Amino acid sequence: MGFVIDPALHPSVAVTGSEDRFPVRRIFCVGRNYAAHAREMGKDPDREPPFFFTKPADAVVDSGQTVPYPPQTQNLHYEAEMIVAIGTGGRNIPEADALNHVWGYGTGNDLTRRDLQKVAKDMGRPWDWSKGFDNSAIIGPISPVSKVGHPSKGSIRLTVNGETRQDADLEELIWSVPEVISILSHSIALQPGDLIMSGTPAGVGALKPGDVCTASVVGLSDCTVTIGDPV
Ligand code: MN
Repeated sequence: MGFVIDPALHPSVAVTGSEDRFPVRRIFCVGRNYAAHAREMGKDPDREPPFFFTKPADAVVDSGQTVPYPPQTQNLHYEAEMIVAIGTGGRNIPEADALNHVWGYGTGNDLTRRDLQKVAKDMGRPWDWSKGFDNSAIIGPISPVSKVGHPSKGSIRLTVNGETRQDADLEELIWSVPEVISILSHSIALQPGDLIMSGTPAGVGALKPGDVCTASVVGLSDCTVTIGDPV
């Protein structure tokens, strides 16, 4: 059997300290998982169960790249996030077993067309166009659990041109990594290669062409992106 057109290369991200790469299957993102960010988005963080949205796997971009300023927006935002890389799939995973499904952790930037997201929210439409556009998932090198364990506290930060814009602690996550894995796996079968973007802390803001934006989580590899001119 052949393919009637050339199949795309399998999307992948770098692995810290290795030439090997982590193949990306799907990207699940947690909405409003830090209370102060939920508040800055005008929401009450205490009453909402976690909710999810997705990005296409081929939206991934390695750290260190320049991506063009995306079309159809005047308000491109950064969002620093810890990335959870799933190594072993499963359904209905209990919280107590959830961390056994993790291959590693990284740092990412959930680029967002905030103006399109506001329209989607106001009109009750899906978030896809605000979150799932080309080059919207900047993902730094993934560090294996064998090297970094399971980070659950410590600094998560983001700078733009060297100035700090987000500065929080992983302990502030409303829904912990085991809880997120368990809840996700009750709605879909998690698969090896799935990435989870675990949510961003307060301080989100706009990027413009020429900006250099670095997200970091203590103990993990940084994730840097440069915003280029529009396509
Ligand atoms: Mn996000």
